[in-house]
Amino acid sequence: MNSRSDVPTNENFEPVLTQNLKLPGSEKIATYLSVGGYQAVRKALSLPPDEIIDMVKRSGLRGRGGAGFPTGTKWGFMPNGKDVPKIVAVNTDEGEPGTFKDREIVEQDPHQVLEGVIIAAYAVGANRAYVYIRGEFFLGVKRWIKAISDAYEFGFLGENILGSDFSLDLSVHRGAGAYICGEETAMLESLEGKRGSPRLKPPYPASIGLFGLPTLVQNIETLACVPHIINRGSEWFSSIGTAQSKGPKIFSVSGHVNRPGNYELPLGISLKEIIYRHAGGIRNGNRLKAVIPGGASTPILPAELVDVPMAFETLEAAGSALGTGAIIVMDETTCIVEAVRRLSKFFAHESCGHCTPCRIGSHRIYEIMDRIEKGQGHSGDIDLLLNLVEGIDGNTFCPMGSALVNPVRSAIQHFREEFEYHITNKNCLVKTQIPK
Ligand code: SF4
Repeated sequence: MNSRSDVPTNENFEPVLTQNLKLPGSEKIATYLSVGGYQAVRKALSLPPDEIIDMVKRSGLRGRGGAGFPTGTKWGFMPNGKDVPKIVAVNTDEGEPGTFKDREIVEQDPHQVLEGVIIAAYAVGANRAYVYIRGEFFLGVKRWIKAISDAYEFGFLGENILGSDFSLDLSVHRGAGAYICGEETAMLESLEGKRGSPRLKPPYPASIGLFGLPTLVQNIETLACVPHIINRGSEWFSSIGTAQSKGPKIFSVSGHVNRPGNYELPLGISLKEIIYRHAGGIRNGNRLKAVIPGGASTPILPAELVDVPMAFETLEAAGSALGTGAIIVMDETTCIVEAVRRLSKFFAHESCGHCTPCRIGSHRIYEIMDRIEKGQGHSGDIDLLLNLVEGIDGNTFCPMGSALVNPVRSAIQHFREEFEYHITNKNCLVKTQIPK
């Protein structure tokens, strides 16, 4: 883990990704232009594409969609040259339970992301971009469409952008609300009009992506960081955060806190500070019991680990992951067995069915969790769950296998006595402890 001296406090931290959200009409192009919007595009178009990729590499930006892959490196994987058409695919298919940051950015400040898309497309030499957005995000769809239309009108999209020789067309495609379409290759399948199932990798989208063309797939928050890197410089960005986790991050905080919401803070800030200082602490003065720190697919942490810095490397060392930075807080009234039962139901429902360990295993896990929670568990059920988890993890076609086993395995690791109590006493340990 990082020493505490590496970890920034937020005393002098200024939000940038969410700075426009408080402005009236923050979604409008006039508002965005009034605060210096699209200056980064002007600057980027005056620089060679390689220099922009180098800036993004030096900034240390890592993808904010969950995987945390270095963004500049990913851009560098796109083939050089103009002989093959290239594509940027913008992933607005936010569907991880607990995560609601991309939705807010798109609804309240779509031009910030759009500016990031234009710069990314210019850097990798793409002249076509697609926004893939979760179908239920009705307002987000509306805002994307309006932002794109205004950007065409102002000359930020279309032929010869701002008088340069760079052209870009962008359009919106609505998904149908499948969690798996947030996985980049399933998203590409869906964009092509097919069923959203993941593709075998390699080949990676940078070589063979949408319609067989080299494709850069990028998350909303990641793209929102790009104009700030161009405007303020790589050094500014890399000065925020920890050794391996740079820049600002939007944390979605939900669950048993007094002030749930999105908080933009420096990477490396402690989980405790986010919960108690920014999100107002635990409701009703209750004790903290557990936290899911990075969205439903990341392992649960017990309250004793609340001092952990919110960074890729520190959360991994603590046995979990930064994921999307979606913090789900559970207080002492939470039955962990019930919480995991619900998560298991979600993953069983969202399994795309392509591979057996996930298609069958996710439902078996849910069935066992359901009977344990209802007081009908069998004496060998905990071992059965752990066996299933071992059989699924690492043996599935896409990363959803690890995602669905994480809550189960970590819950048994940290809260085994609750599972045992449910099975032995046919009752909930937490319910017996909470006064009526
Ligand atoms: Fe589909 Fe297999 Fe991925 Fe599950 S792990 S979502 S069944 S491809």
